Amino acid sequence: MGDDGFEVTFWGVRGSTPTPGAATAGFGGNTSCVEVRAGGQRLILDGGTGLRELGEALRPTGPLDAHVLFSHVHWDHIQGLPFFAPAYEPSSKLVLHGGVRAGRTLEDALRGQMRDPYFPVRFDEIAASLRFHELAERERLTLDGGVVVHGLEGHHPGGVFAWRIEWKGHALVYATDTESTPATDAVMVELARGADVFIYDAQYTPEQLAGSDGRGARHGWGHSTMMDGARLSREAGVGTFVLFHHDPFQDDDAVLAKERRAQASFERSVAAREGMTLDVLRGREGA
Ligand SMILES: [Zn+2]
Ligand SMILES: [Zn+2]
Repeated sequence: MGDDGFEVTFWGVRGSTPTPGAATAGFGGNTSCVEVRAGGQRLILDGGTGLRELGEALRPTGPLDAHVLFSHVHWDHIQGLPFFAPAYEPSSKLVLHGGVRAGRTLEDALRGQMRDPYFPVRFDEIAASLRFHELAERERLTLDGGVVVHGLEGHHPGGVFAWRIEWKGHALVYATDTESTPATDAVMVELARGADVFIYDAQYTPEQLAGSDGRGARHGWGHSTMMDGARLSREAGVGTFVLFHHDPFQDDDAVLAKERRAQASFERSVAAREGMTLDVLRGREGA
């Protein structure tokens, strides 16, 4: 892809904790990491364990120049960074964007996970040129190549950003780790209005959320169901709804069933799986 495309690739699609094993191999067990290429720019949305795989895929392509946006700093969104090979290359340039969470800057939070005794490599051993950018809600980032990013707060313990990435009249929305409520639904519909691709938290089934699976209700845990995502997709008039942040209790069959139920409500629904690439410019042509 040259400078004239807009694509998204999924490197980690699981929520909360990695889920290795044969039962989850189809959709993949790595946690949140999504790569967006637009107008010649590379954006990496969250640095869960999928980031390690992205790093390996990028190794042959030479120095990395990328924007990494952290929705928030729960483990499943940052744990891949210490294993991201391009971060240890002096020729790499990374701009790290994120908000202040619980009084800590993004830099402090990322340094924290590599402090003794949690990890043997210190954050200062990261050799890439790093620039931190403290992101505020509704701030508009204008990147090279005419790529524009703006974010809103979702509904999640400790806070979370959801982003809309626009390029040449097309848009991708990434909204993970957010619970559907009437107030946040209105915000999400505003953010997702007319987007070609809408990636939304679909962690639970309605039965899991209600606790009828015997594991207790998950209201207030900061996640939505695939039916919430399908409903918001209809309301916002998006092209394709991507179910994201699959629950660790869901094996491949459960994710497939979740996808089918979402499709019955919003036809162009697809469950995110590791290695999947979507052409955002064709997001309205079906999944
Ligand atoms: Zn998460
Ligand atoms: Zn979270």
